[in-house]
This record gives sequence, C-alpha cells and structure tokens, in this order.
Amino acid sequence: MNTSPAMSTFDEVNVFFDRAADRLGMADGVREMLRSPWRELRVTVPVRMDNGEIEVFTGYRIQHNGARGPYKGGVRFHPDADVEEVRALASLMTWKTALVEIPFGGAKGGVQCDPLTMSNGELNRLTRRYTQNIEHLLGVNRDIPAPDLGTNAQTMAWMMDAYGQIHGHTPGIVTGKPVELGGSVGRDSATGRGAIYVTTEMAKDMNMDPAGARIVVQGFGQVGSWAARIAAEQGCTVIAVSDVDGGTFNSQGLDVEALVNLKDEGGSVQNFKGGESISNNDLLELDCDILIPAAIDRVIHADNAPRVKAKVIIEAANHPLTPEADDILNDRGIRIVPDILVNAGGVVVSYFEWTQNLYQHTWDMDRVNDELSKIMTRAFTSVKDRVQAEGVTYREAAFLIGLERVAHVAELRGFI
Ligand code: NAD
Repeated sequence: MNTSPAMSTFDEVNVFFDRAADRLGMADGVREMLRSPWRELRVTVPVRMDNGEIEVFTGYRIQHNGARGPYKGGVRFHPDADVEEVRALASLMTWKTALVEIPFGGAKGGVQCDPLTMSNGELNRLTRRYTQNIEHLLGVNRDIPAPDLGTNAQTMAWMMDAYGQIHGHTPGIVTGKPVELGGSVGRDSATGRGAIYVTTEMAKDMNMDPAGARIVVQGFGQVGSWAARIAAEQGCTVIAVSDVDGGTFNSQGLDVEALVNLKDEGGSVQNFKGGESISNNDLLELDCDILIPAAIDRVIHADNAPRVKAKVIIEAANHPLTPEADDILNDRGIRIVPDILVNAGGVVVSYFEWTQNLYQHTWDMDRVNDELSKIMTRAFTSVKDRVQAEGVTYREAAFLIGLERVAHVAELRGFI
C-alpha cells in the first residue's frame, strides 16, 4: 500500500478520466456529469457478533452512471472500503462496461469491515442487514451486485436470499452466486481467465512467447488464483504468488495446482513447501516478464515504481497503480494493460449469468468461455487499434473508448 497517498482513490481514477476528457475536448458540463456519481447511499449496518455484543459497520452502494443500462458492480468487504474507494470503483465499472460493450452502467458497494476476523454467522448477518438497507436501490433492471474483494459466491447467496425475502425469489438480482442457485458456470474463473486472454493478446503484440513467460501474481483469491492456474495451464512459468500474509517464490516455477489445494485447505501460500517465502513488497519488484497485481488498490506507487522489473503489467486488480506510478512506468517503457480492460471478464460473465437468469436457461462451459474470449479479444483489439492510431497508452485508449461511448449514449437519451 502507498505509504502517504496524497489523493483519494476517486481523485486518482479521475486523473485518468481527465486525461481522456481533455483529449476528447469534452465540455466542462459534460465532464462534470460523467465524472459525478448519480446516486450514493450510505447505510449503518448493526450486527450482533458471536460474543453477544452489537458492532456497527458502515456500508455504501454507489451508482455512478446508468446511461447505458442497469447499474452493475461488485460488493467489497474490506477495512479500506470507504466512500472514496467505493466511488472510484463504481466509476471504473462505468468505463469498463462501456469498453467491453455490455448493456450495463457502473456501480459498486462496500462495507468497511474485516471479513478475515469474522465468523460465517457474523458475515451472514452483516450481508443480510446490508442487503435490507440497500434493497430499495436494487432490481434486476436497476442495479445488480456481484462479488469483489472479501466477498464470494456464498455472500451472493445470502444477498439473493435477503432480497428474496422481501421481493420473492429473484435469482437475477445478483451475479456470481453458486451454480446450484442460478449462477453461471465459469463465473468463478471468468476474471482470471479474461486477464489471461488479454495477457496472451498483449504477449503476441510484443512478440513475446506467452508459453515461455515468467509470471508473478500478487493476490491468490478469486482473481489471482484463477489467473495463475490458467497461465500455468497455458505453459507459462508462474514464479511467484502471494496472499495478504506474504508470498512464495521459485525461479523454476511453482506448482500452481498444489498451491490451490493449500489455499482450499485454509493455508497461506507463504508456507508453501515448493518455494521460498517472499514479502509482498519484494514480490512486486521481482525480475519477471509479466506482473499481475490481483489483490488491492495502489500497491504500485511513486516509491516502488522505479524498482519494478516486469516488461508488462496486467492490472487484474482494480486501480493497482497510482497515476504517479503509471507515469513512471510509462516513462520507463513498461507496458501497462489497464484494469478496465484486463479484469472485465468478471462483469462479462456476470452479464451472461444475468441473461441466463432472465431467460431461465443455462449455458455450458464451452459457450461461456467462447463468448468471453470473443468479447475480451474484441475489446483488446479496439484498445490496441486506438493505441496505434493515436500514439496513446493502453490506459488512455481504454478510457477514451469508455468515455466516448457513455457520452454518446447520454446524448442519445437527451441528458446532455
Ligand atoms: P479475493 O478476496 O477473492 O482475493 C483477494 C486476494 O488478495 C487474497 O488472496 C488476499 O489474501 C490478497 N490480499 C488482500 N490484501 C492484500 C494485501 N494487502 N497485499 C497482498 N495481497 C492481499 O478478491 P478478488 O475477488 O480476487 O479481487 C481481487 C481484485 O480483483 C480486487 O481489486 C477486485 O476489485 C478485482 N476484481 C475482482 C473481480 C471478481 O470477479 N472477483 C472482478 C473484477 C475485478
């Protein structure tokens, strides 16, 4: 984490937004409308803890922009999930859904809590109360939550149940739920898989053989563990991975399946026998071809960016680089593929899940992965073409496309 962030996460995301808006020559009023969240809800979430005491948490649901369709975005349970962070993540969803051309707007939710210290019963009660407090903003054609950092398919099952107690059984109210409850096959792996589709396309573009690439992944949760697994399946050498406690490193390559088993048994990857332990800070500075931050925001900043040795950074996490780090790395010639492209696979398969729920029909894994591959490849190509046409970075190109599409739809609908 950056030691002294001068700006909030939302301000930082808006540095990227403003660069694109400047380049598009966007008028001040339009810019302000696109930058500002349309609706923000702050809720108090009291929970009876297992020790009988009541603890009071703060939660948010922020609907950033709904010009292109119902609001869509995950719910994060994390101590840093304050209003600025949730706002930033909601805005990233707006540009992401536009970039990959799925018919949603952008939203995000969060509860400031530490799920690692809470029991299943406490998390169930927290999720239910949070859902009851935001349910009037939700709806299958209004706002559809999904998992994010600190939440998972179980959390979505609780959200669906809490919403259903008020509105009747409504599987399409959340995505990323268990398959037995109407979830889509392939949703758990989708974000990691999408990140590796993008990595492969980028490697081709750089004349790098992805099968020979040395990859480092920070974060071994839903996104990072699948990214590492799929990269290893494709023949890449995953030389380091980490979780919140620390990491493991082996220059000859790690046995990713064994690491997944260790994680499933509740172990930490830093205790893996097949590698040497490494801190999260050192892991980011390892000599490698591809670095995939897949944990939390702002892990690469002005202090450590000069020491990053990767040739390309694939942003599987949301906002893992501060704008200062982005500038330093661009100046150093390190390619950065931005979050709104790299991690869009999650919301793309959420879109497939929502569609399946509306039609009460299920797709098989091949169909999910084929359609995901098509959408991710199309989005990557549109970004790459823009990079080549305008001489901008991948992030600038992705934001340019996202902003243009949202502004265009807002104009068609008569907002501006
Ligand atoms: P997760 O909770 O499943 O996993 C997070 C991982 O990061 C865990 O291994 C955790 O131990 C590790 N971690 C937590 N704090 C850390 C720290 N300070 N340093 C190093 N590692 C740390 O979360 P996730 O769903 O995998 O989300 C990871 C990132 O991907 C987030 O930025 C999230 O917004 C983004 N994302 C997730 C999805 C999705 O489908 N889940 C979709 C798009 C983007």
